[in-house]
Amino acid sequence: MKKVIILAIGNEIVEGIIVDTNSKYIANKLLDYGYKTIMTKTLPDDLNLISSEFKDSLQKADLVVTTGGLGPTDDDLTREAISLALEKKLIYDPVIGEKIVKKAKNYYKTVPEIVKKQGYVIEGAKVIENPVGTAPGQVLNFENKTIIILPGPPAELYPIFESALKTLEKDEPLYTRRIKTIGIPEAVLVEKYKDIIYSDSNITVATMASYKTGVELRFTGVFSLKDKIDLIVNKLLKEISQYVYALDNKSIEEEVYEKLKNLGKMVSFAESCTGGLVSSRFVDVPGVSSVFKGSIVAYSNEIKEKILNVKKETLEKFGAVSEECVIEMARGVSNLFSTDYSVSISGIAGPTGGTKEKPVGTVWICVYDRNSNKYLTEKYSFKGNRETIRFRSSLYTFNLLRRMLK
Ligand code: ATP
Repeated sequence: MKKVIILAIGNEIVEGIIVDTNSKYIANKLLDYGYKTIMTKTLPDDLNLISSEFKDSLQKADLVVTTGGLGPTDDDLTREAISLALEKKLIYDPVIGEKIVKKAKNYYKTVPEIVKKQGYVIEGAKVIENPVGTAPGQVLNFENKTIIILPGPPAELYPIFESALKTLEKDEPLYTRRIKTIGIPEAVLVEKYKDIIYSDSNITVATMASYKTGVELRFTGVFSLKDKIDLIVNKLLKEISQYVYALDNKSIEEEVYEKLKNLGKMVSFAESCTGGLVSSRFVDVPGVSSVFKGSIVAYSNEIKEKILNVKKETLEKFGAVSEECVIEMARGVSNLFSTDYSVSISGIAGPTGGTKEKPVGTVWICVYDRNSNKYLTEKYSFKGNRETIRFRSSLYTFNLLRRMLK
């Protein structure tokens, strides 16, 4: 398995003004080529720092990929830093320089002289043309290591990186399986099933807990370990199937969508504390219109009463965050939209509004099956801030619906 280090260069990344999405893209793509990313670093536009970090990365990895800092201005220093680190000359290539100037004529009335800076190539590097912008990429082999130099803007990086991949020597590809769960804490899962999870030291295990997607276990190894990885996954599935909502790349929204589609059923939502988040997550799935009719965001009691037909007495006696209220909300939206299933959510996302009986994080969810007039309700006590409570509520909404559809 070949090792990769990715250096994402630019002050704006280090300062947190933009998020480094390039590294994620590159690391993912390289897996198919048998290259495992062991580190990603963000570096400022500082010549000496880029140069020394680059040198260090080249010692540790088989492939170093840099993104950014290839523009024409004084703060674009990647080419200079790498040539300094490798003690190789930067040579102006007049043919490439001319091409860049020709392209730049599309953007400038009079092409500034500094644009030509992008025509400098590190001695021995292969140039990869930029079909979108001006700064070309470069690929270089150095003492059995490979260096790929890419521009920062993602739209420019993608096609150049695709071309650079073709020059790479493929290693044995990696094989990955993912198990996605809800309802079991990460530490409990890992502690209880450690003998299965960590049964083969050649298989890398990663666990990830997220308030948006639950707890995920990821198993990665070289392709020849496929059968062993599948065996671990199957053993684990036998033990924890009640918590597993999806496998591999499938999201919980996609899982619910597919289940509804296979059943030929429609759903609608009545959302209070999630304010449309459940609907928004659901419409991320392409084709969802074949199973999703729409939603009511009934944030106020007035709308719960007026639109969803929740009884005044229910709200007065039990409150909006109650089992009685979510049942009436689910029934109300299902009547409005004539859907087979409807789901309602009402809770206290905080930071204010909590009481001793109903603290912040108290959330009721109801799934209603209109055809058989059956309800499934559940009360949750989520911890966290407004954002995490709202996202957890949406996650558990999909999970309750998934359980009803089983
Ligand atoms: P340019 O010729 O446009 O200056 P460059 O190679 O010098 O190209 P940068 O100046 O470092 O690239 O970045 C230009 C823009 O590209 C950034 O403002 C940002 O919008 C985007 N960008 C840069 N690096 C990344 C990254 N790691 N992830 C996502 N976007 C990035």
